[in-house]
Amino acid sequence: MNQTGYCGRLAPSPTGLLHLGHVRTFSVASERARAAGGRLRLRIEDLDPHRSKAAFARAAEDDLRWLGLAWDGEPWFQSARAAAYRGAWQQLMAAGLLYPCSCSRRDLEQSAGAPHRAADEPLYPGTCRQRWPRGTSAARAAIAHWLGAGPDGQNWRFRVPAGECLRWDDGGFGPQGYIAGQDFGDFAVWRRDGVASYQLAVVVDDAGMGVTEVVRGADLLLSTARQLLLYRALALPSPAWVHCPLVLDEQGERLAKRSDALSVQALRAGGLSAAEVLALARKGAGSGLVPLA
Ligand code: GLU
Repeated sequence: MNQTGYCGRLAPSPTGLLHLGHVRTFSVASERARAAGGRLRLRIEDLDPHRSKAAFARAAEDDLRWLGLAWDGEPWFQSARAAAYRGAWQQLMAAGLLYPCSCSRRDLEQSAGAPHRAADEPLYPGTCRQRWPRGTSAARAAIAHWLGAGPDGQNWRFRVPAGECLRWDDGGFGPQGYIAGQDFGDFAVWRRDGVASYQLAVVVDDAGMGVTEVVRGADLLLSTARQLLLYRALALPSPAWVHCPLVLDEQGERLAKRSDALSVQALRAGGLSAAEVLALARKGAGSGLVPLA
């Protein structure tokens, strides 16, 4: 029973097995929801039809149950949410905040300058932004045309307000500030194959699910700055944010999907109990305790 209005979420992507990094984040999310007397929802982020596998979604649910990390209600699937994402695209489009981008991955790699310290993707050089200057009559006519035609068949980017610092007080990392156009550039909201981007989907869903606090890994700090822009543009209330330190392997690298030796399944098969896996995740895999295969 949710008496406080708090709502958190667990949001695994079914593109691989859950590993200790997920366990750390999800156990913090679970603890915070319980301490707040609130709800915790499960969202399967199966946005990308090419990379998502139903078997990984089932494995994630099974691992969470085994770990004792319970969620409230039915799981929510991003694959069923295309209409809501399209509605958000239309809203952003009507506000003149999007432009079609025909740059290939190759173009972006070639034009990329030295990556910024905090950057998780090369800063977009603005090639297509310049082709669609805001507010001109040609741009307005183009918007009217695309609103009728819909988003598919083009990549779409969000025009960030260059120079603005996006700030929030993070429950894990303290005061944060990232400058649009410098720490991160115009980012993708829609893919030409008809799929919303992670940034757009996660904002539409967190708002749609009534999430009041997002607990997730520190690799998404910069994405929070992008998402704050989307909350504002879509006139949605922003949740509170708690980012958790990443679990590193013994080489000091962050765990990735390929770190299967540190997957919950491998640790279970190796004979560890749920309590031991939770303790290991909270401590960090770099402790040397992890039985590397
Ligand atoms: N689905 C993402 C992941 O598995 C998490 C996204 C988020 O928490 O916003 O890393």
